[in-house]
Amino acid sequence: MPKVKRAKKFAAVKRMISPKDPRLAPVKAKLALAAAAAAAPVKNVAPLPAAMFFSHNTALGPPYHILLDTNFINFAIKNKLEIVRAAMDCLLAKCVPVVTDCVIAELEKLGVKYRVALRVAKDPRFERLTCEHKGTYADDCIVNRVTDHRCYIVATCDKDLRRRLRKIPGVPCMFITQRKFTVERMPVSGAPRARFWGAPRKTLFGTEHS
Ligand code: ZN
Repeated sequence: MPKVKRAKKFAAVKRMISPKDPRLAPVKAKLALAAAAAAAPVKNVAPLPAAMFFSHNTALGPPYHILLDTNFINFAIKNKLEIVRAAMDCLLAKCVPVVTDCVIAELEKLGVKYRVALRVAKDPRFERLTCEHKGTYADDCIVNRVTDHRCYIVATCDKDLRRRLRKIPGVPCMFITQRKFTVERMPVSGAPRARFWGAPRKTLFGTEHS
């Protein structure tokens, strides 16, 4: 085999194409796209539960589990409404009221004036949920529970809590108007109300708020 003689590469420079060469255009476009993607802020979109069909929650169905807030129990007593009965009249289906440990703790903290409410909350027909969080602030507890498990209707008379709950898709709210329970954001709600300007409008997928 003949030996191939190679010239010694001294100070050899790799041959490059000019940076203005048109062949580099697609590469440059790709790099610019990648840079733009890296600079864009990261969006964290929480995945929706599988039971959700747009804003319609298929996990809701009789028997309805109704998470009771402290003030709701109290208002129900003031309006002389028996919770299980009134909820059934509103939803026209079997209802299971659910109370959390922090709601019981809040009622216990409120003292003697709320002892009737406390006794109602300890009704054996009510389901009890144990809390693992610190403190006895029921609003945060309810919001967290409902965000994790969209299988409850929340019964509250607190407007702020209701405003927070409206931001969570698939969670209907129950409240008291005209001495009966009313539910909003439910495709079927038993207590019809007169529609006035700005009132929630019922649609196929829940209730719209204008
Ligand atoms: Zn709790």
